[in-house]
Amino acid sequence: MKLVIDEERCKGCNLCTMVCPYRIFRPGTRANRKGILVPELDRPERCTNCRLNRLYGRTLCGICQLTCPDQAISWVDEKPYEPVRMEVEY
Ligand code: SF4
Ligand code: SF4
Repeated sequence: MKLVIDEERCKGCNLCTMVCPYRIFRPGTRANRKGILVPELDRPERCTNCRLNRLYGRTLCGICQLTCPDQAISWVDEKPYEPVRMEVEY
């Protein structure tokens, strides 16, 4: 599972940067083609959903997705050949 932000939907409100307990979302620094500062992801593999969804088969946090007013946050399956880096914080 991989966390993604849909740049076409995001309006740069930064609500996701405020609610994530792991501070995975950072305020964006570069405007996209619509002039919107889409948040950047800081080591998204730390997200509980990215790490543990497959193990437990259910959504384990999802606060960012629930909070996003534009339904711009989702998780996608990773392709088998994509490298996976895991970092666990205690
Ligand atoms: S699901 Fe939870 S831990 Fe993962 S990015 Fe969203 S708010 Fe952060
Ligand atoms: S909450 Fe949604 S619309 Fe707002 S900055 Fe985050 S991804 Fe973009």
